Amino acid sequence: MVVTIENTMEKCSKCKKNSVFQRAYSGEKLCSDHFKASIVEKTRKTISSYSMMKHGDTIAVAVSGGKDSLSLLGVLSKLTSRHREKIIVVTVDEGINEYRDEAVKLSSDMVSNLGLSQEIVSFESLFGFTLDEALDLRKDTKISSCSVCGILRRRAIDLAAKKVGADVVATGHNLDDFVQTYFINLTSGDMGRLEFLSPFFESQTDLPRRVKPFIEIYEEEIAFYAYLEDIPFQSIPCPYMNEGIRTEIRNFLNKLERNHPGIKYNTYGTALKILSSTHSSRKRRRCESCGHPSSSNICSSCRTIQMIQNNLSVN
Ligand code: SF4
Repeated sequence: MVVTIENTMEKCSKCKKNSVFQRAYSGEKLCSDHFKASIVEKTRKTISSYSMMKHGDTIAVAVSGGKDSLSLLGVLSKLTSRHREKIIVVTVDEGINEYRDEAVKLSSDMVSNLGLSQEIVSFESLFGFTLDEALDLRKDTKISSCSVCGILRRRAIDLAAKKVGADVVATGHNLDDFVQTYFINLTSGDMGRLEFLSPFFESQTDLPRRVKPFIEIYEEEIAFYAYLEDIPFQSIPCPYMNEGIRTEIRNFLNKLERNHPGIKYNTYGTALKILSSTHSSRKRRRCESCGHPSSSNICSSCRTIQMIQNNLSVN
């Protein structure tokens, strides 16, 4: 993403300094300090309004090395500055040649700068294959690269978070991620997976709660926050990123937002209402194989792992 600094020389809406960012949806103009403070405050409000974290929780922060997860780690360390030992970073190495190494290093650098601890797990150690190998072996299915990656990463994060004894897992999903995924699930008819989109997800199993403290913040604001805070984040795009429909949906939504500021946030609000009305009446199922929450008898993680392991054994 290209970050544009809007140095309009207009004054900040909250002080006399020059503004560096204007929120098109609200008209608010903010200087660097007030912009950064607003991101921390928005995150704090989201955590509070969804009761995402409880006093004394051990918090696993899923950090990939991208701008969202590194910024989330920075913001959560500010918000928990007196109990920082309660944060443990979990990082998943999917096994993407010439891509993941940089991200894992960036995450480890930030972890050591903040004096935190980190658990790094890899697809290879957990499942017996790398993402590169898995994608070579899914020939006879139509499942996209990002779907395979997302399904397995979700399982890997759960396993790592459980291993470190976390009560809650925080991920860096932002408002754009939510709205894009909502559209992807709508267009694929995958209503069962919509439940996992919620800002707060309690599995009612021994898995930690999953929370998304950046869910009400636009992606471009997080990128700008990372820029202002001087957080180095991964610059190379993932080699698989343009294989699925997400890039087209992202471009479509960005165009809508440019022409109708605030439309992504409105969509988010509507989607939440739909989710709460459809899922409150639905009985939650468990995967018959692993016991994790699932929209079918066997969850997508178990199906995907089994399919790839079967293909591995015949190759
Ligand atoms: Fe995984 Fe897709 Fe992200 Fe690449 S772009 S890391 S394949 S989810």
